[in-house]
Amino acid sequence: MKKVYIDTLGCQMNKYDTERILGMLTHFDYIQTKEESNADLYIVNTCAIRQLSADKAYSRLGNWGRIKKENKQAKIVIAGCVAQLEGEKLLKKFPYLDLVVGPQNIYELPDLLKKIENERICATKDYFCEDKNYNIKREKGVNAWLSIMEGCNNFCSYCVVPYTRGRERSREIGAIVKEAENILSQGYKEITLLGQNVDSYGKNLEGKPNFAKLLQELDKLEGKFRIRFTSSYPTDITDEVIETVKNADKICECFHIPMQSGNDRILKAMNRRYNVEQYKEIVEKIRKNIKNVTITSDFIAGFPGETEKEFMDTIRAIDELQLDYSNTAAYSPRPITKAGKMTDLFIEENEKKRRLAILNDKVKEAHLKSNKKYINKTMEVLIDNIKDGVYQGRTRNNKVVHITDNKNYEIGQFVNVKIERVSTWCCFGKSE
Ligand code: SF4
Repeated sequence: MKKVYIDTLGCQMNKYDTERILGMLTHFDYIQTKEESNADLYIVNTCAIRQLSADKAYSRLGNWGRIKKENKQAKIVIAGCVAQLEGEKLLKKFPYLDLVVGPQNIYELPDLLKKIENERICATKDYFCEDKNYNIKREKGVNAWLSIMEGCNNFCSYCVVPYTRGRERSREIGAIVKEAENILSQGYKEITLLGQNVDSYGKNLEGKPNFAKLLQELDKLEGKFRIRFTSSYPTDITDEVIETVKNADKICECFHIPMQSGNDRILKAMNRRYNVEQYKEIVEKIRKNIKNVTITSDFIAGFPGETEKEFMDTIRAIDELQLDYSNTAAYSPRPITKAGKMTDLFIEENEKKRRLAILNDKVKEAHLKSNKKYINKTMEVLIDNIKDGVYQGRTRNNKVVHITDNKNYEIGQFVNVKIERVSTWCCFGKSE
């Protein structure tokens, strides 16, 4: 058996790709090692959303280049979005690198690994390579990732995804349902459906099945389990999806709807296809229809040209919309994108940091407020961890709960818990 050491940076989609890579490599006599010093194959699965993330990948390559001086047979691979974006340039920049492989090309890995015995290769074709019945080596736990589509057609002005993961392509419903059945048969209790814009699901497929239809099919599967999905594009969420989540048994009451900014001019500059009012309408419609629903979002601080007033509109929006939780980031220029070329409008790093800190404080405040709504309520918790003797899990609407009753549970068990108190990041309660 050969040993593969793999590092994963970035989003859930990358984690899922890593599981696909590891699953595939097990068919070719590789086992995963956590020991960095003596692997046969090193892979970094990269993220290109922010420069910081790309820099982390380069620093991994640097480490492995040093290891390779001693361990000359070792092969070094860069995969993921940075590989796709930078391509051949990486082979020039890192002379010890053997293979550059883009997200659409990972199913060629077995062939590519043979070829790099003799040559250095860049494989970054933009095409859709479906799974070839390799097993996926999923991380142990209660949740499994399941990709329902790849790529994105939206071209938000700050985002590299359409350049790295290509245009939108959905997988057939039958293939997704089969994979879901397989996941459930392995004992997972939760499936998270992944797509850059899940509401666009099915547009390239014959008969154009939509996302609601996919959810309905998955909801019919037997057994006690949960389904989550991410991410939703605000104005693409249909009434049918809302109705489906409302009536379904297994679909969790949880929407992740990136807003990015609370100011209409900035949204336009971001090439987002909605304004603040439209975002508000969709949030209100979801809340009106689905009890205990959680709505989370993403925001960028310091987009090129954002004024102080425009930034404060974002802060106000979080309050007004009572968003339960948001991911935040300071704007990071990606040169290939439209916003990345607005160099004369770039905001100073210190100023971006200042805005990000204000944004984070607001997000924390909103999260605490959201958690407080559940004090004295009984929620179904799926136990996913035990730490320092305390069982932990998540509610259907994705609240983290610590169970403080000193009883014994199983990981993967569903328990009804009455919430007694909360903090910014979690809820505490006892089983009923
Ligand atoms: S919707 Fe916009 S931000 Fe999201 S992946 Fe597509 S281009 Fe990027």
